[in-house]
Amino acid sequence: MTDFQTLGLSEPLLRAVEAEGYTTPTPVQEQSIPPLLAGRDVLGVAQTGTGKTAAFALPVLQIMSRNRPQGNRKIRALVLSPTRELAAQIDERFSAYSEHLDIRHKVIFGGVNQNPQVRALQKGLDVLVATPGRLLDLINQGHIDITHVEFFVLDEADRMLDMGFIHDIKKVLKLLPKQRQNLLFSATMPSSIANLAGSFLHNAVKVDITPEEITVDRIEQKIMFLRKADKRRLLVKIIKQERVERGIVFTRTKHGANRLVKQLDQSGISAAAIHGNKSQGARTKALAGFKNGNIPILVATDIASRGIDVDGVTHVFNYDLPNEPESYVHRIGRTARAGRTGIAYGFCDESEAGYLVGIQQLIGKEIPVDLSHEFHFVGAIPKPGQKAGKIKDKNAPKKKQHQRNRSNGGGGGRGGGGGRNQSRSGQGSSNPRGDHRSGNNNRNQRRRDD
Ligand code: AMP
Repeated sequence: MTDFQTLGLSEPLLRAVEAEGYTTPTPVQEQSIPPLLAGRDVLGVAQTGTGKTAAFALPVLQIMSRNRPQGNRKIRALVLSPTRELAAQIDERFSAYSEHLDIRHKVIFGGVNQNPQVRALQKGLDVLVATPGRLLDLINQGHIDITHVEFFVLDEADRMLDMGFIHDIKKVLKLLPKQRQNLLFSATMPSSIANLAGSFLHNAVKVDITPEEITVDRIEQKIMFLRKADKRRLLVKIIKQERVERGIVFTRTKHGANRLVKQLDQSGISAAAIHGNKSQGARTKALAGFKNGNIPILVATDIASRGIDVDGVTHVFNYDLPNEPESYVHRIGRTARAGRTGIAYGFCDESEAGYLVGIQQLIGKEIPVDLSHEFHFVGAIPKPGQKAGKIKDKNAPKKKQHQRNRSNGGGGGRGGGGGRNQSRSGQGSSNPRGDHRSGNNNRNQRRRDD
């Protein structure tokens, strides 16, 4: 008897799980599947990478296939996801898990022609995975009826709120039937999420998984102080020296991501950008090339990278340090997945020392400094008493507010617990001058990715 059998899953699902090569349920699966099968609501503090999709998809599929109503198919499970990538990944998981069941599922999201989605909806579905904007569009056009939903899953709820989807979520909640089972997953549990959860979950079982505590332990972290102008050269050098075959480089803006891809290309390094301004086709292509090994370097902004689930990422480069400390934990968690180890480089320039202070406060440790490169610049090291957050550049030209907003592409806030690991890096010393006073983590302008 496998562990999955002890969770009460039916034979078709056990076969599907076995075909996926899963032998042991992950903690979120172990804790969520039994209460969900028993009809309870679940509030899961867990992020992508923990196995949470199977945690909700398996029991939902099991209950749905147990009591299938007669007549035309109606949407009985609705999964809301903040980004297209994550929605597509969830739908792909539903394909795998429902392999031996008579279940029809479909994913819909914005940024692509709606007609194929409408045609699929007309044929009838059991499970709909959607981003909020396109869902409401198609509901308003009369193509989607969610009044028969029995299972409502709100995935990555913290990101949903960050991206300004709260009103859309409230609209969807109003349209759902009262009698249903609810699941909410979020990487973090700030009061806004707790309030939202309280508004529609009933007597929910709380499942709390903080994956960073697991994965961060296997990530070697290094910080490099340098001038902004030297970042590209250092990146190229490391990629070539370490023969990086699968690495993700994070930039703060979409424009920065595009520019860097061109520059890497000029240096003979094949890279692709993935961010919210890219068409869905371009994003899918970039991700596919990265997954199949044709493109060794993916340059991403935080929002677009959300939910990217690629095994075997050996390197993460914080080319721009994130202005939200939680994003750092999320970014470095892209490596060291599935039991592997990984390395995370942080490039800290003269304008980013405050961000580094914030990151180190969150993770509760100082990241070892790597001095083994020719670009080391003491001017980028946090000053004594440096506060967390943005450093104002007095010489920077003043931009109008709308220009600032338009030039800003990343802005991903993400959560999870702080890793309290010790890095295995023996390089250099820890930042000698970071202080640990709390400060202001400037929240970046959000954008909808739907
Ligand atoms: P998720 O958090 O749902 O995005 O899942 C992350 C990755 O873990 C996906 O590639 C899944 O296929 C994989 N996965 C999920 N459950 C298990 C399991 N029990 N054992 C091994 N891999 C799993």
